[in-house]
Amino acid sequence: MRVVVLGAGVVGVTSAWYLAQAGHEVTVVERQAQPAMETSFANGGQISAGHAEPWARPGVLPKILRWLGREDAPFLFRLRFSPAQWEWGLRFLFECMPGRLERNTRELAGLALYSRDCLVELRERTGIEYQSLQRGILHFCGDERDFAELARHAEAMRKLGIARELKSREECMALEPALRRSSVPIVGGVYTPQDESGDAHLFTQQLARMALARGVTFRYGTTVQAIESKGERVTGVTVRDSGERIEADAFVVALGSYSPLLCAPLRIRMPVYPLKGYSITIPLTPEQEAAAPSVSLTDEAHKIVISRLGNRLRGAGTAELTGYDDAVNAVRCESILRRIRQLFPDLVPAAEVEHWAGLRPATPNNVPLIGATRLRNLFLNTGHGTLGWTLACGSGRALADIVSGQRPGIGFKFQ
Ligand SMILES: Cc1cc2nc3c(=O)[nH]c(=O)nc-3n(C[C@H](O)[C@H](O)[C@H](O)COP(=O)(O)OP(=O)(O)OC[C@H]3O[C@@H](n4cnc5c(N)ncnc54)[C@H](O)[C@@H]3O)c2cc1C
Repeated sequence: MRVVVLGAGVVGVTSAWYLAQAGHEVTVVERQAQPAMETSFANGGQISAGHAEPWARPGVLPKILRWLGREDAPFLFRLRFSPAQWEWGLRFLFECMPGRLERNTRELAGLALYSRDCLVELRERTGIEYQSLQRGILHFCGDERDFAELARHAEAMRKLGIARELKSREECMALEPALRRSSVPIVGGVYTPQDESGDAHLFTQQLARMALARGVTFRYGTTVQAIESKGERVTGVTVRDSGERIEADAFVVALGSYSPLLCAPLRIRMPVYPLKGYSITIPLTPEQEAAAPSVSLTDEAHKIVISRLGNRLRGAGTAELTGYDDAVNAVRCESILRRIRQLFPDLVPAAEVEHWAGLRPATPNNVPLIGATRLRNLFLNTGHGTLGWTLACGSGRALADIVSGQRPGIGFKFQ
């Protein structure tokens, strides 16, 4: 079959890879000049299958209220006159109910574990290199109450097949000695030894290169204007400016936060809204490299993740509900840098720190939308929110199975 994938972020490129592996003739259409130039550009770098949980949960509501109006808040709701934003916000509140948390966690955990297996298999088969570190993820807390909550949750996750090891303060320091110099207290943490980290941008670029070598066509600098349909089928997509029409037998929407905008005229509605996040990337001198962490870290109190990418350190996180504005806000980047300085006082940046902002394609319950639509040859692979790289390989592979008329190798509530 001729399949067109719309979007060359990490989700579009993994979809294209697995579709090509399934024997399809694949074309990827992307408005940027290269793959992974938008949300997949400078994320937190974690493959956090052992921590794949929704942000929507009962305990998050009092925190959001406490943070309201604070420019450097980990979660910031900037109210806009936007029905889509309000609808998303209300659905997020609904997903915070305890019964929903359990159901959403089960969906996410299953897909995340499958996805990590797919990534490991892909890496072993192709030798793809992306500054990968297989040293696990340590989720640490500076406060006894947060630690007790993490411990309670670790027990629940164990029942879903996710090995989370509870670590005392001393055990955290032994796992990641760079934390010994932290100027903020660390009381304990939860360690997921099978989790990984690496550079999602590099991964996507390398995978696109391998896909190209195996016959996938990439149309960069090509902005999709509209998806056209007739009856129950998509007939083609039109390209902005040139008016060119691209035809195929099947189409996959992997447009990240922009997916709902192109699908709305087809009367396909989806609860995907941009959840803005920030990252900073610190270049390390050879002396700093020895002192910098190499276990990927999650700081519970500040909701940031820290990953080592070769001779750089990436700090990423925070969430801001502010529409499609992707401008970098220096206050929010500085708050990530301030926290990294507190944790690793020796890591005073010797060169310029890169600031970045990206729009996570978020659903209110964190569960992505993968599978069929009301149009028989239009498929979705979008809405991966905070976990796009963690879920990408499993989502791409399952999507390729669905397009091929096969049953995916994972139980998940597909569309
Ligand atoms: C600060 C931050 C930290 C994060 N940390 C992690 C992490 O540690 N681990 C993890 O798993 N996930 C993380 N994520 C989430 C992850 O980065 C995203 O879920 C993932 O990148 C989404 O990929 P995507 O392919 O769906 O979207 P994108 O990467 O945005 O790709 C969509 C593509 O569609 C293209 N496009 C859009 N409109 C058009 C059009 N009209 N025509 C043609 N092309 C178009 C865009 O140019 C883009 O390339 C983080 C996100 C942020 C913001």
